Amino acid sequence: MSRTLVEPFRIKMVEPVRVTTEAYREEALRNTGFNPFLLNSDDVFIDLLTDSGTGAMSQAQWAGMIMGDESYAGARSWLDLEKEVKDLSGMEYVLPTHQGRASERILFGILGGKGKYFLSNTHFDTTRANIENTGATAIDLMPEESMEPDTYLPFKGNIDLKSLVSSINSLGKENIAGIVITVTNNSFGGQPVSMASVEAVRVICDRENILLILDGCRIAENSYFIKHRESGYEEWSYREIAQKMLRLADAFILSAKKDGLVNIGGLLCMKDYALSLKCTNQLILSEGFSTYGGLAGRDMQAMAIGLREVFEPDYLEYRIKSTAYLGERLRNMGIPVLWPIGGHAVYVDAGQLFPHILPHEFPGQALVCELYVRGGIRSVDVGSVMFGKFDSEGNFTPARKELVRLAIPRRVYTQSHIDYVLDIFKEIKEMDQILSGFKILYEPPFLRHFTVRFEKINPKIIEGNDGAGT
Ligand SMILES: *Cc1c(COP(=O)(O)O)cnc(C)c1O
Repeated sequence: MSRTLVEPFRIKMVEPVRVTTEAYREEALRNTGFNPFLLNSDDVFIDLLTDSGTGAMSQAQWAGMIMGDESYAGARSWLDLEKEVKDLSGMEYVLPTHQGRASERILFGILGGKGKYFLSNTHFDTTRANIENTGATAIDLMPEESMEPDTYLPFKGNIDLKSLVSSINSLGKENIAGIVITVTNNSFGGQPVSMASVEAVRVICDRENILLILDGCRIAENSYFIKHRESGYEEWSYREIAQKMLRLADAFILSAKKDGLVNIGGLLCMKDYALSLKCTNQLILSEGFSTYGGLAGRDMQAMAIGLREVFEPDYLEYRIKSTAYLGERLRNMGIPVLWPIGGHAVYVDAGQLFPHILPHEFPGQALVCELYVRGGIRSVDVGSVMFGKFDSEGNFTPARKELVRLAIPRRVYTQSHIDYVLDIFKEIKEMDQILSGFKILYEPPFLRHFTVRFEKINPKIIEGNDGAGT
């Protein structure tokens, strides 16, 4: 019998969360136009909107905050961070930024431009936006077999090497400004990328003389999967695995709000001196001097400590297993989830769970709203609310899948919080429901999910929904 999954920390400071009534939440949600993104966080009981910048710092990190050196140039905190990151990445040039997208804007601003292409396993949305903003094109290359939501593959985040080679040939290698490997593959279920896959990309980059960029926001979580799923790495430490992978890349961008275990911060690292000079100039222009990049000294101190803590075996094991705990139990209960469970989030297939709500009525949003009203749980639709498109005639092209993401903040919630989330899902699954779809009342010209407003349509009474599929 397996033992209870226990958090490898004690609680020394508490942040109260408010328990509200269903009637209160109903009203609060109505006031946002049924878009929980617009809720005040005080009205949320368990917030699974994102794992970005929502983690808890350790006592060592808080002590580091006090020790932070706030000098404008050459601060001790910066030197600590630089030393840590050079050792981790093996890259000579390290720049601090306020968050991942600042690194992206600087790097792709220099490498991108009209007629250029970036190829990736999957570009994260800010990565894609920063590339496209330069006039360049971002292309995702995932193999067909990884698209199957219920098939177990150990490294479902891997890029499709065959399409990578054929894309380079058809677009012309001189037009490829970089290959971006996202680890773990955030927009694709938080699925891991194998070392073998990055090694194969390295060989192609060497042959074709193309820059390899690692978007390594969750590189520690990825290392966990490599140690436990890829042969040859059983005896390696998590940090050694990350060190090896980073040494395969030419540049490294990082949002420290994820595996940096901090609430704000980012990094931009590279091997090439000439490129580093260009990046440094851009950094100074918009972010700050090259030894703080828009961060306070205390932020950099906490990041230096977080980047070491994140590789601790007790932490990583708890992290990956607690995400799997939620995902596996949902699956056992008959709630359809993307399989296998990734590192930082569980993705529920609301299209399968609510087959009576058509894609253009946003089944994902129906689940998001139900989770909030019933349980005070905040999640996000990453289905047609985020990716569905209307053409000029008003015809709707839905997303590939109607997914809802439950992202797990790091070191914040205990197993009983997660058990409560499971209870709410059980209720949603079992009880007779009056569930309606949604119609868009207002949508902004871009990044719709942030500010879209809905109205409810077609209430339907569903008796004991047994959620088709598994
Ligand atoms: C979060 C994230 C980014 C962007 O970082 P921000 O800190 O939110 O600006 C880029 N790539 C990936 C894979 C991410 O998860």
